Amino acid sequence: MSEQPSSVKKILIVGGGTAGWMAAAMFANAWAERGIEITLLESRTIGTIGVGEGSTPKMRRFFDGLGVSEAEWMPACNATYKCGIRFPDWSTRKGFRSYYHPFFSHSDDASIRAFFQNVTLRNRNFDVHGHPDAFFVSNALAQHGRAPIANQSTDYTTDYAYHFDASLIGEFLADYARARGVEHLYDTVSEVVRHENGDVAAVETAEHGAVSADFFIDCTGFASVLIGKTLGVGFQSYQDVLFNDRAVAMPTPHEDTGKLASETVSRALKHGWAWKIPLTNRYGNGYVYSSQFVNENDAEHELREHLGLLDSDVEARHLKMRVGRTERCWERNCLAVGLSQGFIEPLEATALMVVQDTLENFMQRFEQGGFTPRYRADVNEKINLIFDGIKNYIFMHYKLNTRDDTEYWLANRKNQNISADVARVLKVWDKGGDLLTELREQAGRMVYSPTSWYCILAGMGRFPRKPKKPKANVQVYDPADARQYCESMVEHFSDHRAVLEQMANT
Ligand SMILES: Cc1cc2nc3c(=O)[nH]c(=O)nc-3n(C[C@H](O)[C@H](O)[C@H](O)COP(=O)(O)OP(=O)(O)OC[C@H]3O[C@@H](n4cnc5c(N)ncnc54)[C@H](O)[C@@H]3O)c2cc1C
Repeated sequence: MSEQPSSVKKILIVGGGTAGWMAAAMFANAWAERGIEITLLESRTIGTIGVGEGSTPKMRRFFDGLGVSEAEWMPACNATYKCGIRFPDWSTRKGFRSYYHPFFSHSDDASIRAFFQNVTLRNRNFDVHGHPDAFFVSNALAQHGRAPIANQSTDYTTDYAYHFDASLIGEFLADYARARGVEHLYDTVSEVVRHENGDVAAVETAEHGAVSADFFIDCTGFASVLIGKTLGVGFQSYQDVLFNDRAVAMPTPHEDTGKLASETVSRALKHGWAWKIPLTNRYGNGYVYSSQFVNENDAEHELREHLGLLDSDVEARHLKMRVGRTERCWERNCLAVGLSQGFIEPLEATALMVVQDTLENFMQRFEQGGFTPRYRADVNEKINLIFDGIKNYIFMHYKLNTRDDTEYWLANRKNQNISADVARVLKVWDKGGDLLTELREQAGRMVYSPTSWYCILAGMGRFPRKPKKPKANVQVYDPADARQYCESMVEHFSDHRAVLEQMANT
């Protein structure tokens, strides 16, 4: 294939899960009118993963970019707003048994300063309140069942993300893409044909024969048909750092009236953690665990017990997860997107964010006019940094746990497979050093903001044990003032259920 994108007239996306349809929608929106032919081929017999119900705030930009309003897609996907994630039972330290990882914005400016000041003092062994929950508006919104949407009387804002039905979002994007000219084929790839130079030439299928293209997008999920099985790009496992490799999922009903939660709850259980995600019609629940420490039956039993479903015949879905990333997501004339390129367990719901990052970076290079090796290397390096940066932050949850109830939690805490970046964060923090400067030095490799790092370290209660009274001349912020400020902001934001009902009825 030529290095020039002008030679790319036909793109074949293999795989029709969320990643495949996100790619199809973005390409169709940007390129269909330029005469680039876009085809999506998916197997009828090999299903999609069918889970993945939480996003990061980046998804707002995804739909904005497609020109799709929340009123169009959210009701169609049973979607709700997400103000942040609550983490109960990861820490056993008194006063720190739960913390909230907020999405934040200008409304938090004043209280974030207070949070940083208090946490720094607390970490330098002064007896001041350093738990994050008091300091973030989005925590108050979630606790009151509010949407992160200001009511008409104000222009306050707070950042937010979404929860949605993974299958419905795929269907919504499929309709969007097909309406903009994406050809949709059902068939199963049995073999991949390559050009003499090693590029991918076509995929062989039972009903459509050889389907050729100039450029291929591998969205075949964990099967990794093109990037892994055909092009042989190596896979870097994260299993030495992130032990979880299985999940079991089951839905539960929720009440039709009263407050509708606007947060994800990620509660630590015996051998992993359980998510609880509110949709408009049900809760999505699942238990992410490590098969090294618990078997499938016991994990399902524990989740059922946790959900009060021991006597229920609601079906459980068991899933295997391949945790890690490809060494390169872009190889030759093939870009891997979604589970085919890698997966970090869903603790911070980052997978679709990486899909979006990968597609945006690739498309930017396409627009810039060339598929040179330098561009490929650039995209690969960027996406690898994102993967490794997320891995570091997810790892921190496990490293900071203080549970002693199972081997799983002890092994996580004792795990010494720490990246140099994480080791430096912990070292600076544990010495009461200048973590902000350290985090700024790592900024090029960081996915999470300093606020997120401070929230996890402080929220899990990793502080010196016997704090002293602060000196009289040191400024300390009263958490009651911060809490009162956050509570006072609640009235400016709309009731979550009411906003969604109104959206569905207009
Ligand atoms: C337990 C769990 C929880 C998760 N939670 C979240 C979350 O909260 N937030 C988030 O962002 N992400 C989450 N994810 C990840 C998310 O589900 C995926 O990133 C997302 O669904 C994209 O998947 P995919 O499209 O890459 O793969 P899949 O959904 O597996 O789709 C693969 C597609 O490839 C096709 N295919 C495969 N082989 C062939 C073949 N030989 N021929 C033709 N077609 C083929 C299949 O038919 C299918 O259409 C979670 C994942 C798991 C496992």
